[in-house]
Amino acid sequence: MSDKPYTPRAFFSGFDDALPRVLLSPQKYVQGPGLLDRLGDHLALLSVRRAAVLGSERCLANEGKKAIESVKRAEIDVVIAQFHGECSVLEIEAQVRALQSSQIDYLIALGGGKTVDAGKCIAHRLNVPSVVAPTLASNDAPCSALSVVYTPEGVQESVEYFARSPSLVIVDTNVVAEADERYLVAGMGDAIATWYEARICQSNPKAITPAGARPSLAAYAISEICAKTIYEVGEAAAESVAVNKNDDNVEKVVEANTLLSGIGFESGGLAMAHPLALAYTRIDRVHENYLHGEIVAISTMAQLALEKSDDLDKAARFFSRVGLPVHLGQLSMSPENSDELNILAEVTMTNPNAHHMPMKLTHEIIIQAILDAHEFGLTIADEFGDEAYRRLHN
Ligand SMILES: [Zn+2]
Repeated sequence: MSDKPYTPRAFFSGFDDALPRVLLSPQKYVQGPGLLDRLGDHLALLSVRRAAVLGSERCLANEGKKAIESVKRAEIDVVIAQFHGECSVLEIEAQVRALQSSQIDYLIALGGGKTVDAGKCIAHRLNVPSVVAPTLASNDAPCSALSVVYTPEGVQESVEYFARSPSLVIVDTNVVAEADERYLVAGMGDAIATWYEARICQSNPKAITPAGARPSLAAYAISEICAKTIYEVGEAAAESVAVNKNDDNVEKVVEANTLLSGIGFESGGLAMAHPLALAYTRIDRVHENYLHGEIVAISTMAQLALEKSDDLDKAARFFSRVGLPVHLGQLSMSPENSDELNILAEVTMTNPNAHHMPMKLTHEIIIQAILDAHEFGLTIADEFGDEAYRRLHN
């Protein structure tokens, strides 16, 4: 059991005034069609003997089935851990209690973002390495050494950091292509933000990454090609996934959403898009009905509005073409609801990452940025219609 919390900021700032540059990544990243059928072979390379497989009931009965069969074929003992849907301390601790005496040497998290985040927390507490097999490309959780933890009701509560990155991240792109188009599109929203946030941190000598260090040039370059790839082939990839087709564009976007975005945010740094997106989880209607990446997309527009960046136009046009929200109405919110806007500004102000922005943030400036982005998004929606958005949100 490992109960000691790891705080990267404290760890790296303990030696000297000058923070080191740090690049974190999973030990191995493997992506391609049909890989869940070969999960056992990949685990055998790691000498896994007895693994817990964490997955939701739905996942364990569907795509998880072939993964588990493959693990058993490799003569690895499997302990099933059924996940109940929320990455909360309550759920994490219940899983840890259940697995404590099972003598597993690895934990495999199989499923969407919440399963992945919970899996990393459980593995850390059990002091075993984690393997992440995401079944969606809707977020950048799989590759990082941190998890966002929520209340049992789904409101963001804390972030947990781990000294170990996942040993293996393995993505079966056929499974990703079989999922609803909306998930891949949400992942693109999450991933495009990575570049705009890393860009801010690179030019701010005081910025600290979630890895607790200075941003690395490697992560900066990775986040740039992440956004570039999505702008180039994101729309085509979404069209393929809409008809459950897996092709090279899907492969590129899955890599951008999962690997490039994951390394990019963790070692490139965050700015305002993510703190604002996490603030939106305080509004029940929003976190119950919208995916993380969808909320990040509209929050990225607010950051770009604040920067007065020409890329606001580019991002908004792309978001509207693929069906990401571009104005508050598309998040079931209204610019007139000042109580809710105040909550967003208040929560964003408390997040140190938001203050990587080059201007001094105030409550009023954040609200103005949200409203400017909203107004801009309305003009884009008027110009291009909201066909893609309605297709994904029917
Ligand atoms: Zn994110």
